[in-house]
Amino acid sequence: MSDCLFCKIISGEIPSNKVYEDETVYAFRDIAPQAPTHILVIPKEHISGCNGVTVDNSAVVAHIFAVIPQIAQAEGLTGGYRVVSNCGPDAGQTVPHLHFHILGGKQLTLEMA
Ligand code: AMP
Repeated sequence: MSDCLFCKIISGEIPSNKVYEDETVYAFRDIAPQAPTHILVIPKEHISGCNGVTVDNSAVVAHIFAVIPQIAQAEGLTGGYRVVSNCGPDAGQTVPHLHFHILGGKQLTLEMA
């Protein structure tokens, strides 16, 4: 999508700090990290968010969850990490392109609301 921030990051129009890329997935460091390690994993296909996942495109979500442990291992997150996807304004989603936050590198608190 031409006006999507994360589509522009995938295309290289907007610079990013890439940590992983393959045919279907792109991962990069969050510009405003909430933990020592804060990485965003996104599908290259534009999907608006969790509500945009369907039976036809959900294979990319399975692939993302196969890639996440590889990234966590490469980042040395041996003590564990959190995966978060905010869906919609009440959850604080600010970029309407499906993304999964990987947060780690410290003892995380359980602030969920
Ligand atoms: P969310 O609030 O769940 O939609 O997450 C969007 C995330 O994108 C936030 O954590 C932002 O800090 C991050 N973000 C926004 N712009 C950029 C950018 N240009 N490069 C890297 N991360 C970004």
